[in-house]
Amino acid sequence: MAKIVLIGSNHSGIAALNTLLDNYPGNELVVIDRNTNLSYLGCGTALWIGRQIKGYDALFYTSKDELEKKGAKFHMETEVERIDFDAKKVYARRTDGAAIEEAYDKLILATGSVPIVPKIPGIDLTNVKHVKLFQDGQTIDAILGDPAVKRVAVVGAGYIGVEIAEAIKRRGREALLFEMFDTSLATYYDPWFTHDMDKILADNGVELHFGEKLTSIEGQGGKVCGVTTDKGKYDIELVILAIGFRPNAALAKDRLELFGNGAYLTDLRQRTSEPDVFAAGDCATVWNNATDQFAYIALATNAVRSGIVAVHNAGGAEVESAGVQGSNGICIFNYKMVSTGLNLAAAEKAGYDAAYTDYEDLQKPGFIEHDNHKVKIRIVYDKKTRRIVGAQMASYQDISMGIHLFSLAVAQKLTIEQLALLDIFFLPHFNQPYNYITMAAISAK
Ligand SMILES: Cc1cc2nc3c(=O)[nH]c(=O)nc-3n(C[C@H](O)[C@H](O)[C@H](O)COP(=O)(O)OP(=O)(O)OC[C@H]3O[C@@H](n4cnc5c(N)ncnc54)[C@H](O)[C@@H]3O)c2cc1C
Repeated sequence: MAKIVLIGSNHSGIAALNTLLDNYPGNELVVIDRNTNLSYLGCGTALWIGRQIKGYDALFYTSKDELEKKGAKFHMETEVERIDFDAKKVYARRTDGAAIEEAYDKLILATGSVPIVPKIPGIDLTNVKHVKLFQDGQTIDAILGDPAVKRVAVVGAGYIGVEIAEAIKRRGREALLFEMFDTSLATYYDPWFTHDMDKILADNGVELHFGEKLTSIEGQGGKVCGVTTDKGKYDIELVILAIGFRPNAALAKDRLELFGNGAYLTDLRQRTSEPDVFAAGDCATVWNNATDQFAYIALATNAVRSGIVAVHNAGGAEVESAGVQGSNGICIFNYKMVSTGLNLAAAEKAGYDAAYTDYEDLQKPGFIEHDNHKVKIRIVYDKKTRRIVGAQMASYQDISMGIHLFSLAVAQKLTIEQLALLDIFFLPHFNQPYNYITMAAISAK
């Protein structure tokens, strides 16, 4: 029986914890986390700020008490300061100053990610916030309670920035969305899709400032009063930074092998370069089936999966990750976009001889008058091998289940021809006889 120390008890850590206690009884599990809370679903922050949900309580899916009942020992509000990998000991400090020392047989690092903060003048002013923790969401919510806060700058039009900009509008404030690229969601989607999203944001009153770089934040009496970009100056009362996250690998960066962006480099078992040390979630790499390489894809879904893989191996089994495809989705003012694998630009960058096939049609036959919206689909594939490397879909319809098919296709390296002849059922309540997945695949050149 082993003693396992787990640093970080959010999505990855909780998945690891539950898997260990459910499958490997008899092991000792000690969990250390610097936060006051655990299991907060960050995706709910925008829903709460925009008042699309009644409250934030249900954004926590478990609790320390519940997990302690399963047998875990917790040190919350305790920051790990140092790891002695040779002596196999973790040194931490509680917020009240008390020192904690825990020896381990196996160590799991699930320390997640931290927001990227640009080094620009004014960054330390009051009312400059980022969105990561439950506490961040609560702070922003409280600031928006002040009627004097009328104009909000959201910096970064990735999925978090776009969601927060929508929430600000829904809350009745002016939202100015700043982005260096000339479109939103540039990492995940091709322009055929991102232009839809840009239009939906603009049509719903979000003021888009794309191709524009924030250079400074101005203050008055220590509080934000404006922002300056390379193209203009704007009066602003709140700045929300959403320019991305970096892996939180501070604890072991000098000892463990790292990926290009500083994440802990792991193998398929989430094992680091130190045999008894595993890393999972936003602080670690995952295997990307679309590129056949290790990658950094910070998503809660990957955090959970990699946490499960890590702890099976820490618990004594030999379990390899099936890899991931970076499947993701977003829903803004009811418009839904989902994607998996690589978009065209990413496929080209990865070295594929990339081509794509597009199709656009109603979800159901035209005679179905209700709940029947246009769907657009793009499948990205390699011209030489015909292998599907990614797909994107968008609609006001809930088309989310469709993208899971493509996730599997990318993982299993299916060809576009295999998809064209796939048995896809037809019933007018659901879809068309010549449905858009088949039609897109059949029309691939
Ligand atoms: C606003 C927002 C919306 C999101 N929406 C989605 C979504 O819709 N879908 C999706 O898949 N993903 C989403 N994500 C991403 C997702 O939240 C992350 O991928 C996920 O939180 C990663 O989980 P994790 O456990 O690896 O790391 P984290 O959630 O970062 O947790 C790391 C834990 O480690 C602890 N810790 C760190 N360092 C120390 C230390 N030295 N000592 C002790 N404890 C430490 C922290 O306190 C924290 O509890 C969203 C993220 C945000 C911010």
